[in-house]
Amino acid sequence: MPELPEVETTVRGLARFLDGERITRVQQNRPDMRFPFPQGLVQALTGAKVSSLGRRAKYGLIHTDRDTSLIFHLGMSGRWRIDPVSADRHDHLVIETADHRFALCDPRRFGFVDLVDTARLEEWPAFAAMGPEPLGPDLTVEHLRAALKGRKQAIKLLLLDQRVVAGLGNIYVCEALFRAGISPRKAGGRIFRPALERLVPAIREVLLQSIEDGGSSLRDYARPDGELGYFATRFDVYGREGESCHRCEDGVIRRIVQGGRSSWYCPKCQT
Ligand code: ZN
Repeated sequence: MPELPEVETTVRGLARFLDGERITRVQQNRPDMRFPFPQGLVQALTGAKVSSLGRRAKYGLIHTDRDTSLIFHLGMSGRWRIDPVSADRHDHLVIETADHRFALCDPRRFGFVDLVDTARLEEWPAFAAMGPEPLGPDLTVEHLRAALKGRKQAIKLLLLDQRVVAGLGNIYVCEALFRAGISPRKAGGRIFRPALERLVPAIREVLLQSIEDGGSSLRDYARPDGELGYFATRFDVYGREGESCHRCEDGVIRRIVQGGRSSWYCPKCQT
């Protein structure tokens, strides 16, 4: 599943070819993905100039000079293909500029797009209740202290809560907790300042490292330029049950299930 680093990589890849360009043609190849395509999508985008691209949590944003923005979510298997040599039957939305062609390909169709007024972007339902961007200035020790205060729920689950931090998925929560030396089972309200001072930079580091690697995923997630993204080779704990810890001498990575999802951690390093 594309995580925040894959979305960031996708946005950067698209921006190289799309930023500042006029959209000359838009083609919908079916009426819907996970949700129906927004009404008037083709008319709204055709002839518009892309003014900038961005990302909020795991959503990509394509802003236009008509004060509207296209929001895209890659779901489980979505990716943008730039200048594909041939059409794919899963290319559901195709956008063209004078020089390039961008196809949103999504075999499983859990992805979707929406069109909103740029000025009202923060009011879009999924964005309205969202916590700070993990790579932005608002994710601070103070924010986490306030958000976790008195919480009995495990820190692992709280960090997956988009209201606490936006856009963190299972992989990066596991990796950040390892780096910060915090057990995924620990109650949020029992995590104090010294640990939070390790956690904030740990969250940033695992995401930035992955973005640098070109986006990591367990699937053969394709970067928009057609290159494959990284496989899960650089993780310290994720998916490493029974293997030895990269940090301590005798720790063995353990897997537990929290909220229906796996957590991996080193019981020696993470307390
Ligand atoms: Zn360890």
